[in-house]
Amino acid sequence: MMTQQARLARISAEFQAIYGTPPSAIVRAPGRVDLMGSHTDYNMGFVMTMPIDRDTWLAVRPRDDREVHLRSHNLAGHSQFSLHEIKHDPQVEWSNYVRGVARFMPNESLVGFDGLIDSTVPFGSGLSSSAALEMATVAAFLHLGDLSMDPVQMAIIGQRAENEFVGVKTGILDQYSSALGQTGCALQLDCRHLTSEPIPIDRSLAVVICNTNFKRQLVGSEYDDRRAQCLEGVYILRQHDPTIEALRDVTVAQFAEFSAEMPPIIAKRCRFIIEENQRVQQLADALAANDQHTLWQLFADSYNGARDLFEISVPAMDAMIAAMRSAPGSVAARQTGAGFGGCMVALVEQERVAEFSAYVAQTYRATTQIEPEIYAVSASAGAGLLQ
Ligand code: ADP
Ligand code: MG
Repeated sequence: MMTQQARLARISAEFQAIYGTPPSAIVRAPGRVDLMGSHTDYNMGFVMTMPIDRDTWLAVRPRDDREVHLRSHNLAGHSQFSLHEIKHDPQVEWSNYVRGVARFMPNESLVGFDGLIDSTVPFGSGLSSSAALEMATVAAFLHLGDLSMDPVQMAIIGQRAENEFVGVKTGILDQYSSALGQTGCALQLDCRHLTSEPIPIDRSLAVVICNTNFKRQLVGSEYDDRRAQCLEGVYILRQHDPTIEALRDVTVAQFAEFSAEMPPIIAKRCRFIIEENQRVQQLADALAANDQHTLWQLFADSYNGARDLFEISVPAMDAMIAAMRSAPGSVAARQTGAGFGGCMVALVEQERVAEFSAYVAQTYRATTQIEPEIYAVSASAGAGLLQ
């Protein structure tokens, strides 16, 4: 990957070429990888997430006409709009993430800007490039307006932009971890109470992304199906215990008692979520203690459940997990993001990352004929001015 210095030179030169002046500031927001907690967010549960040093930069210069002019280094097209009247752009679709944020920011004090986006987060692969763009946009408006905002509020604006303006149904997890990141730490998020706890990761462990480069298909409709199935499970369980509002409220023991009454497919989905939620809480202790036996087991159970119970795996993910599990230096391996392709994540002994990466790439390529991308990431700070 490019050094920060080189990237800074690139975005400044590109900005100058487009707008004729250098940017006055650069804000950034990280992508994120979940280390545990697939699909637990909309079940009001827990997620172990890590904001990463793959991030989205937004170079800006304020304008005095309350207009926003936008370009992206990563995608074609340019888009401009007035803060007085924020409409959906059917042509340059990526601009809607920025427009949506502008729409839901407290509007009176907003300053318009010339902006250039530059991201190292892969799109549509489970590392939350959309949330990084939204949080960078919030950070830009805050910086230009000399405002400050609680990270939870920032995340809520991003989620509204995505749900209500762009029109993609998502939980708040992605935005929340991008807004809240802390250097060197994973975050255990409570998606009901919107609280978080920093969890240190032992220095001997590297977090390695293994991108299957298998393009996700049907992920939207499968995602909606899973959400509906989880809700159906809640509906059945509530008849026994009306205090249950989400799968987060169901204990493993309660589930064992009542699961026989559920249609088998609903029972499988619910079991995965209830167990996955428990794994998030167990992971916090295992990470802090560097308990490698437990780390291996928790990650393995998570992948096996995602494959057999929640059914969000595809053959490319099975090929990747086999390579990750048998690679030198491998401590733990699982899926990340919504599933159906995209990225996976491993914990790897720090000194053996190069060996691990070469082995995984070669083994995965031999089975699938797809070229993967394997790289270590580190835990990075949340959205704000580039330091
Ligand atoms: P992800 O899992 O990466 O969040 P999404 O489908 O939610 O996948 O969001 C990806 C979309 O976000 C892109 O197709 C694009 O519209 C927008 N986006 C993300 N990063 C950028 C960027 N750097 N420049 C322009 N658009 C971006
Ligand atoms: Mg997204």
